[in-house]
Order: sequence, then structure tokens, then C-alpha cells
Amino acid sequence: MSGHAGHGISRRALLGGTAGAGLMATFPLAAGGLAAARSGDRDRLRIHAREDWNARPPRQPAQLLDHAPDRIIIHHTATPNTKDFSLEQAYRLSRIIQRFHMEEWGWDDIGEQLTISRGGHVMEGRNRTLSAIRAGRHVLGAQLRGHNHHTIGIENEGTYSNAPVPAQLWSSLVDTCAWLCDVYDLDPSQAIRAHRDFGDTDCPGDALYDRLPELRSEVARRLRGTNEHIIWPIPRPVTKSLSAQRLVPPQTRPES
Ligand SMILES: [Zn+2]
Repeated sequence: MSGHAGHGISRRALLGGTAGAGLMATFPLAAGGLAAARSGDRDRLRIHAREDWNARPPRQPAQLLDHAPDRIIIHHTATPNTKDFSLEQAYRLSRIIQRFHMEEWGWDDIGEQLTISRGGHVMEGRNRTLSAIRAGRHVLGAQLRGHNHHTIGIENEGTYSNAPVPAQLWSSLVDTCAWLCDVYDLDPSQAIRAHRDFGDTDCPGDALYDRLPELRSEVARRLRGTNEHIIWPIPRPVTKSLSAQRLVPPQTRPES
């Protein structure tokens, strides 16, 4: 959860979400980059852009940093473990999180860069995320207090204190991490970390946390398995310097 430790989105916020009809169009990512996430004739990873889930505009554009993130942070949303695996539920989730972050916490936009639903649907989070990733750069999010300048956050729908991670979510999480490691030239064994590794929180829950070694292994295997026939269309990061630290704009409440 990108926010206060141990606090998920309130049930009121969750149940109060409007279920507007989401657009079905998906964001076409560069073929090579996406092919990196999956091999052979398997489906390519699809990431649904903000327009698809009908995001509201940010209060101000997110900051685009000139370096790549060096860590991928795994969160859970601490929301109910819904049995609704539909795309509409995924879009609704993104809208609920965005409204919660903007209205309850006064942030400029949804905090995390990427969101994955229990049905395995992957959504763009903070504005400018997809264009930043495609350019090998990093858009400043609000998901890991004190470390946003060098980490990219993935919010996984559900509460994984002890509940198992749905196979659909897991598969998309592997694909997404493989894609990010590919684009940013990251070693999954070093890059993939949990929220709790950086702060006083249970996030992403024991059940998901315990599977991070498996996640790193699967991502590494995916990357090894696809390296030979991938064409890399995505520019490598310009620099990995951390010169853009402390660019977090003042907020009514500090983004975390
Ligand atoms: Zn978290």
C-alpha cells in the first residue's frame, strides 16, 4: 500500500466507487519491449493506460526524472480480496485509488506507477508513467516515502497477509517485472523489493512477501529465455545519477 503503514483504502472508499464504463482500448507498448516480457506465441503484456480507466487529470504533471529507477517496489493495496477478476473491476480499482490519494491525502495524483488487479489486468498509475518507461526514464511517484526518486511501485490488488495470490495476478506481476528489468537493465535479484524492506509496514503481506524470491527467479528466467530474439527499441537510461533527488513538490500531506 502506498501510504500510511498498515492502512489500506477504506472500505467506504472502496464500496463507494463509481462503476463507470471503462474504455476497452489498451495502450500499445513497443513490440520489442513487450515481447521481452513474454516469449514465443504467448500473449504480449498489455498495460491499460490512464485513458482506459478514465483517470482524472492530475493537479500538476508528474516530475520526469532523467534516470532509471534502481528498485521495483512490490505493494499490496490492502483492499478486499475480491472475486471479481473483470477488467471493469480493474479500472474501478484504479479510479478508487486515485480518488483516495487525491481527495483523502491531497496528493497530486494516484501515487503508484503501476497497478495490477487480482484478475491480472495491468494499469498505468501516475501520469506520464508509460511514456517515461518507454524512454528509459523515471516518473516521480508517491509510493515509498524517502525513496520515490529511485523506486518504481507496483500496487497489487488485495490483502496478502495469508490469502494466496491469484494465478492471474502472479503471472502479470512476473511479466511486468520482467518488462521493467528489461527496459531499465535491472538485475531482478537486486531490484525487486518489498515495501516492508524500506519501512515499518506489513505491506505486501506475508503471503506475497514470501514469494518474492520466487518472483525474482521467475523474472530472471524470463529474461534469460528471451534475450536471444529480442530487439530493444527502448533507449537505455541516460544516467543513473541521483541528481534529481529532493524534487518532491510540497504537498498538503507528504506523499509517501
Ligand atoms: Zn505498500
